[in-house]
Amino acid sequence: MSLRVRFLGTGSSAGTPQVGCDCAVCRSDDPRNRRSRASILVEATDVALLVDTGPDLRQQLLRENIRALTAVLYTHFHADHINGIDDLRAFNFLQKQVLDCYGDARTGKELEERFRYCFLPPDPAWAKPSLRMHPIEGPRDFGPLRVTPVPVLHGYLPIYGYRFNDVAYLTDLKSIPDSSMALLQNLDILILDCLREDEHPTHINVTEAIALAQTIGARRTYFTHMTHDLGFTALAERLPARMWPAYDGLELHSDIGVS
Ligand SMILES: [Zn+2]
Ligand SMILES: [Zn+2]
Ligand SMILES: [Zn+2]
Repeated sequence: MSLRVRFLGTGSSAGTPQVGCDCAVCRSDDPRNRRSRASILVEATDVALLVDTGPDLRQQLLRENIRALTAVLYTHFHADHINGIDDLRAFNFLQKQVLDCYGDARTGKELEERFRYCFLPPDPAWAKPSLRMHPIEGPRDFGPLRVTPVPVLHGYLPIYGYRFNDVAYLTDLKSIPDSSMALLQNLDILILDCLREDEHPTHINVTEAIALAQTIGARRTYFTHMTHDLGFTALAERLPARMWPAYDGLELHSDIGVS
């Protein structure tokens, strides 16, 4: 059995191209340099888990022809990861049921405060999003997918990455506590933050991302959440073996049960 990861978006909060920018990456014709806000879809059998709902969600759902979701997992409550929440209404309408969402306690609280109308009792016509927020603190199975939250530090803010069987998605981070490194053993695929060339207080840059990927030692590592600093081809050419930049629309497969 195989797990499938689709990259819905691989961009930073500004996206690439960036509004008003004329740099070579923003003007590039390479579709791999057009990055919507960071998100992935993880699927196995009939289970589909969406990670985050950024502002580009509707276009991502259309591009990938996504018609059903089992649940939504939130990494954290920053705008580039949540502000497309309204487009989840499409799944209430298609599935005629409330959609389950998971995240840490702080993210649940922020979502319920900022988007209160999404968490009210469901509208019988599904005219507004109808979501149910659940805290998640440890492993939880969705069909063949075992989801384990992996606490990481996004600057001082504790947020979640997630492990799905032997695939880990760690966006928006500056450091990983030792207790979480223990959750990242024997990975087939690591998907890791890689913001830009220069250092940043709440994200890792290219140098830090390569070093962290080497420490974790997954069989394959893909970088995401990149700014217009990083052109696809130039970055791909200088990365060490078994590391690649991801791009919007990239699809990966991992055998379930291999460790
Ligand atoms: Zn972000
Ligand atoms: Zn630019
Ligand atoms: Zn963030």
